[in-house]
Amino acid sequence: MARQLISKSIAGISPSATEETSFMANKLKSKGIDIISFAQGEPDFDTPDHIKEAAIKAIKEGFTKYTNVPGIPELRRAVAEKFKRENGIIYEEDQIIISNGGKQALYELFRSICEENDQVLIPAPCYVSYAEQIKLTGATPVFFKTKEENNFRPTYKEVEASYHPNIKVFVLNSPNNPTGSVIDEQELKKIAAFLVEHGIYIITDEVYEHLIYDNKKHISVASLGEKEKNMSITVNSVSKTYAMTGWRIGYAAGPKKIIAAMNNLQGHASGNVNSIAQKATIEALTGDQNLVKEMVKEYEKRREYMVKRLNSIEGFHCQYPDGAFYTFPKVSDLYGKRFDGKKILNDMDVAKFFLTKGHVAVVPGIAFNYPDHVRFVFAKSLAEIKEGLNRIERAIKNLS
Ligand code: PMP
Repeated sequence: MARQLISKSIAGISPSATEETSFMANKLKSKGIDIISFAQGEPDFDTPDHIKEAAIKAIKEGFTKYTNVPGIPELRRAVAEKFKRENGIIYEEDQIIISNGGKQALYELFRSICEENDQVLIPAPCYVSYAEQIKLTGATPVFFKTKEENNFRPTYKEVEASYHPNIKVFVLNSPNNPTGSVIDEQELKKIAAFLVEHGIYIITDEVYEHLIYDNKKHISVASLGEKEKNMSITVNSVSKTYAMTGWRIGYAAGPKKIIAAMNNLQGHASGNVNSIAQKATIEALTGDQNLVKEMVKEYEKRREYMVKRLNSIEGFHCQYPDGAFYTFPKVSDLYGKRFDGKKILNDMDVAKFFLTKGHVAVVPGIAFNYPDHVRFVFAKSLAEIKEGLNRIERAIKNLS
């Protein structure tokens, strides 16, 4: 009998639920159809010039060789300074690792601390990669559903009710992708105390920490106290804050043993992160931060427009996201309606309908383990947002 070519663990990765939408969007684009995409989760702004200049300088100076696996000392120090200044957490240099985006830091983390029989508890909806990364370690992702009426903010009661002795790790993502929800401070304190008491590690994904509205405050779990700090690993990245998604720089900070394990894995899997991007990141973290504030002001305007406008269109119920650049409206009121003779039955059909009839791409909620919703990105110009929503409104009016 022929041996199976692809390993079981890799064959078991679910293809992304966004793939079908992207595939269809690309097919329409190749036919010359103009598609407005609210699907890509990245800033529309360019990386600020002073950051680019730092990279150009690094190239010209020949900073083009291997570096230490966990990052150059200067960058790890800049990250430590950032944690102190912005989050009130003191990390030493060897508690920090620089990775190929927050994504690699997350994978290395799950890979370093999870294995078979472990469970990882995640509030849903959640970022698409957590579950697949966790499954690759042999561990099992388990979810609880946050409630729309709580604006998708996880609560202590939900965490307590989800407790199981096999849970080794809890993943918190605040502000959240895809809802933008920012966890309430009191709930966070209670959740963290509960997790610490039960010996559950907390992976806190803070990649959207600066994209936050309505004077809400971001609080890092590790800043709550010594015990919380010792039981948590903070993951962050320059991708969203500094419009640097393509540079691929993320980082994690936490207990030395965990960071050392990640370092061993990274050393064999990929080695150091791009040396030039590391230099650029020093500039991002230590240079002028006003540009970030300006970008956030812009996002806030777009958020205002998008939420109001979505709620004015038949079929949408949309909360105000606390942060990030996503809205996650409920669309189940569109179920039962027909387009091209087919009935809309779920959020995948809604996304297909928007694409084929409105030429607008969104991601169905099922991709984030939370059906009946779709995700819109508002990191787009106001003109594009207006045009995209005009198209959707027209398409809905033509539904039978
Ligand atoms: N965490 C969350 C919640 C995200 O949305 C993303 C990117 N979409 C990442 C981590 C990873 O980002 P990056 O690898 O670009 O740092």
